[in-house]
Amino acid sequence: MEDVFAEHNRSFLETRFIYPVISRRSGGLSLGINLDYDKTCNFDCPYCQVNRREIPEQAFDFQRMQEELHWAIEYLQSPEVFTLPRFKSTPENFKIWKDIAIAGDGEPSVNPHLLPTMQFLKTIASKLPQIVLISNATGLKRPKTQEALEILSQMGGVLWAKLDAGTQKYFEIVSGSKMKLQSIENRILSVPPSLRLCIQICLMKVNGVSPSAYEIACLQERLQRIHDSHRLESVQIYTIARPPAQTIVDPISLRELTTICQPLMDANLPVNLYSGAAD
Ligand code: SF4
Repeated sequence: MEDVFAEHNRSFLETRFIYPVISRRSGGLSLGINLDYDKTCNFDCPYCQVNRREIPEQAFDFQRMQEELHWAIEYLQSPEVFTLPRFKSTPENFKIWKDIAIAGDGEPSVNPHLLPTMQFLKTIASKLPQIVLISNATGLKRPKTQEALEILSQMGGVLWAKLDAGTQKYFEIVSGSKMKLQSIENRILSVPPSLRLCIQICLMKVNGVSPSAYEIACLQERLQRIHDSHRLESVQIYTIARPPAQTIVDPISLRELTTICQPLMDANLPVNLYSGAAD
């Protein structure tokens, strides 16, 4: 059963820019749209699962992505997808197409194809399940991204924004970025008030050490500010499940994750814990 959740291969039948995965957080099949086909990202998270040693030669092709999505809409209506070898161990209650996730191998909120993609999805929204935008939050204040977020909100979609740290020092370690953590929080706070919002947090051991109580307390303060201003739908906390980009990080057991996150649960934040990767 674990294998089916660990299988996040981006290649699927003949498609290039869309890929189905079985997702714990989604509760079924999630169809990813990979806007960052060239695997560029403005973070360098040590736990990233993207294999950047192999870069595709082709660029993202918006026209082809649309064609692939039209094909997938037909294909995913049938149970045939769950007979494929990679999905044969899917639990019965996960055999349902739950969402479209705009994610992939980089950061969609700074990608020029995000707004056209959202505009396209709106034209076929009646045929689609829920739309999820998965983001490290860096581009959320950009005017075109704000426009895309408005469309996402109109479609009843949801933003899953990453916030892995409470302190600047820890943020720089787990993101590989020198950006100000406060500016990441501010960008999350800038999303349209009508947009459904979840925070996703990947916790891990760094050089064998789990996040400190102080780190979690600082993270709690940030989560509380976001929750107070923008009623969070959920705070999804998970750990590493697939080979990470760097060997300095390791997963945390669900038991320890539960202990570490107890203060967040005691604060009545809408916490959901996942063993392994949540996606
Ligand atoms: S933001 Fe996502 S894609 Fe970018 S490096 Fe981090 S985990 Fe990888």
